[in-house]
Amino acid sequence: MPEAQPPPAPNKPAAAAGKSLSGPAQAMVKLGLRRDIDLALHLPMRYEDETRLQPISALRDGQTAQVEGVVRDSRVELRSRRQLVVHLADGGGELVLRFLNFYPAQQKQLAAGQRVRARGEVRAGFFGREMVHPAFKVVAEGEPLPRTLTPVYPTSAQLPQAYLRKAVASALLRAPLAELLTPEMLPPGLPTLREALLFLHQPPPATVLETLEDHSHPAWQRLKYEELLAQQLSQAAAQRERAALRAPALTAATGGLVDQLHAVLPFTLTAAQQRVVTEIGTDLARPRPMHRLLQGDVGSGKTVVAALAAAVAIDSGWQCALMAPTEILAEQHFRKLIGWLAPLLAERGRTIAWLSGSRKGKGRKAMLEQVASGEAALIVGTHAVIQDDVVFARLGLAVVDEQHRFGVAQRLALRAKLESSSGPEAGAGPPLEPHLLMMSATPIPRTLAMTYFADLDVSTIDELPPGRTPVLTKVFADNRRDQVIARIRDEIERGRQIYWVCPLVEESEHLDLQNATETQARLGAALPGVSVGLLHGRMAGADKAAVMAQFTAGQLQLLVATTVIEVGVDVPNASLMVVEHAERFGLAQLHQLRGRVGRGAVASVCVLLYTAPLSATGKARLQAMAETTDGFEIARRDLEIRGPGEFMGARQSGDALLRFADLNADSALLQRARAVAPGLLQREPQLALQHIERWLGGKAEFLKA
Ligand code: ADP
Ligand code: MG
Repeated sequence: MPEAQPPPAPNKPAAAAGKSLSGPAQAMVKLGLRRDIDLALHLPMRYEDETRLQPISALRDGQTAQVEGVVRDSRVELRSRRQLVVHLADGGGELVLRFLNFYPAQQKQLAAGQRVRARGEVRAGFFGREMVHPAFKVVAEGEPLPRTLTPVYPTSAQLPQAYLRKAVASALLRAPLAELLTPEMLPPGLPTLREALLFLHQPPPATVLETLEDHSHPAWQRLKYEELLAQQLSQAAAQRERAALRAPALTAATGGLVDQLHAVLPFTLTAAQQRVVTEIGTDLARPRPMHRLLQGDVGSGKTVVAALAAAVAIDSGWQCALMAPTEILAEQHFRKLIGWLAPLLAERGRTIAWLSGSRKGKGRKAMLEQVASGEAALIVGTHAVIQDDVVFARLGLAVVDEQHRFGVAQRLALRAKLESSSGPEAGAGPPLEPHLLMMSATPIPRTLAMTYFADLDVSTIDELPPGRTPVLTKVFADNRRDQVIARIRDEIERGRQIYWVCPLVEESEHLDLQNATETQARLGAALPGVSVGLLHGRMAGADKAAVMAQFTAGQLQLLVATTVIEVGVDVPNASLMVVEHAERFGLAQLHQLRGRVGRGAVASVCVLLYTAPLSATGKARLQAMAETTDGFEIARRDLEIRGPGEFMGARQSGDALLRFADLNADSALLQRARAVAPGLLQREPQLALQHIERWLGGKAEFLKA
């Protein structure tokens, strides 16, 4: 229903207007509605039927209806609160329109004698039938009714529905909607794109709304297919682009660094580790940049695989960069790796450079020189490793640990950096690009791997090193805290160590710290004689490292921590983890946390404390945790509970890459798009690019991140 005062029509769609955007226009840009085509593809979430008028006498309670009449009486009354009460009569009957909030302008529009069209839910009021806060507008007698259903679009507070509606309607007239796809590229029986869009934005009154709401209507199918095809095409295009790039072919020399590393390892590789090492070795030996994800559950031993890959690169005379999302993770993840490699590198006169946000000034300058001269064989740190002032002599391999925790911007920066980090090649020829190995403990479910990550090769470590005992998970309401504390006492008496994890408090670091500090004090009081440490995100890097070192050395028995310990901490003697307010954590996060225990032969327990009442998804998450320790199963359930949201950084920025299609519900369309995309790109690359551009516009870049 149009507002009482429709806002002025938007002249040109936002982006064209340039700098001085008005509120709504700016809000439109924020929603990603820049081009005419973006607006045309912004589809209604539901519809309102304003095509009909109901006689007031025929209204039923509970019904949503539109009526038209003349205001017989309009006055502000002071009952329990101030309100505007309007009596509307259409000749056959009378209806009360009641407004608890209203502006003087609205009061004027609803003055006696005005002809008004109102739409809302009918209910039985004290003085007969009424509508509370109906949508209304002043009309002239005989004003025609809309001929199509009125679309209701997803929007934001700054963007009035009526403004957006006009913007979409006019964009729809201008948007280039030429049919790019021929019938053989489409599933049978679907309308053209233009037909589908006109139908969905302006459905005729007789339309069965269910088929629009459940998106089963052919018009919806067409749009979902278009979207899936664009996404598949962009993946295929990225794959091709990459195939054309060149990289240094890296191979290990017999008796070289790789063999020496094997000799100093305190264990032998599992069969799964051996397999992925071979897969990675094969990639590295090719003159094409590797683009591989190494996925393996928490504790499956990814680090040593990274170390072996680094050794291959260094053996071949190239540098290797290792990155983790935070400083504390970089330190913990790579400590062992450095311990293994440092002596072997020192024998060769090579160094390890450490680059992080906190290392500044002279220290950093010296490191940068070693990186630029090639003296540093291994460059370790956070995303500081890819900052502009870092110049690599010969970067052959970049390894990104916990890659899903890097933001999209950081991943795009990494890509750009890699493109410009090509080392010199003997003789002429195009510049080389380094190989890229990403590691993650959050496995990508198969359906997602097929759709979003078609451009990525995946290696999986599907086996834990021997001697691990599965963690037992228990879910308790937090009124059983005393029992948990008794359990802690038992474990400590047996010489074990314990983690106590506090959740982030409403993203307030201050409260968060306060909460963690209080927990430390409370537990200290409840457990006399026990040394309780605190690890918190706000602590300086050196302090964190000191606390971790104490815990690792067994000087602290209980460690209270916020999620800074989420990944990477490795203390085999820790046998119990308590997670407070477990219902506030995501499933992947809980799984990561739980991976901190059960790292030795000790039987371990993870206690998830929750505070009632639990939401349905909260319950499903905790149940999943109690039922399985398998990271793949957890990822599958996560996808089920929450949708694909968290699996890629792009999603975290709120940009769902699939707006209309649903990977599960639309698998038939997806199969079809997968089958069509490669051939289409091959035969008609121009058309394929046009289609990608139409659908993804500026987002295509994100798909590569
Ligand atoms: P993640 O995959 O979570 O990064 P890590 O690489 O940190 O796992 O390995 C977890 C622990 O298992 C480390 O202490 C590591 O040294 C050890 N480890 C790795 N591979 C093996 C193996 N094949 N046998 C025994 N222990 C191993
Ligand atoms: Mg790791």
